[in-house]
Amino acid sequence: MDFISAPSPNFDNRPQTTPIDILILHYTGMPTGAAALARLCDPDAKVSAHYTVDEDGTIYAHVPEERRAWHAGVSWWAGEPNVNARSIGIEIVNPGHEFGYRSFPDLQIEAVIALCRDVVQRRKIPAARVLGHSDVAPARKLDPGELFPWGKLALAGVGVWPQTRRFSLGMSFEAGLRAFGYGLPPDTEVPPSTVVEAFQRHFRPAKIDGHYDRECEAILAALLHDFDPSSAFALRDNPTWRNPQT
Ligand SMILES: [Zn+2]
Repeated sequence: MDFISAPSPNFDNRPQTTPIDILILHYTGMPTGAAALARLCDPDAKVSAHYTVDEDGTIYAHVPEERRAWHAGVSWWAGEPNVNARSIGIEIVNPGHEFGYRSFPDLQIEAVIALCRDVVQRRKIPAARVLGHSDVAPARKLDPGELFPWGKLALAGVGVWPQTRRFSLGMSFEAGLRAFGYGLPPDTEVPPSTVVEAFQRHFRPAKIDGHYDRECEAILAALLHDFDPSSAFALRDNPTWRNPQT
């Protein structure tokens, strides 16, 4: 993997007993990639990531993986309120919803896939814990957003994607979301539809309205059926997963 070193001072030590078992993908959400790189390395900004992937596929390395980068902010996943402590954070250059959200170029996605594959294999990160910023901070964040090609990543062995609509959920939608890992930090005051929107933005981007329907239920059922979030790493190499036609 070729990186350009672009060190950021914005990091600290991880808690010693916490494993690194979450991968968080972001978009930069700034008008240009150069502006985003400058901010991620600015000591006054107090934000960072481990890596940034530019639109041409160039990968910048900011913070050593062993250190805690400051990318997720106030967040929550599967009972863990300090997502930064146990995650690797990757920024993906895109102006985002505020400055002209657009498709992610193929060259950029190829580099994202290569980098993510390297990280999840080295760190043994479970497939179901490859997440977007909006998944772990649904009350605040939209990134990497509904144009991000999660299905393409899953076909390349990174993250999970529902392959079927044939299972039924067997529990309430809210309970299913919690079982998968979704939730809100304590004292977050937003309507429950906010979490449904985050789920849709990741797994049913064609319709993001905050109201779960039968398709959402079937998608969540498929995710929970195929991918036990606590032990999904081994399933990344499931051959039926790699090829949805089989
Ligand atoms: Zn983000």
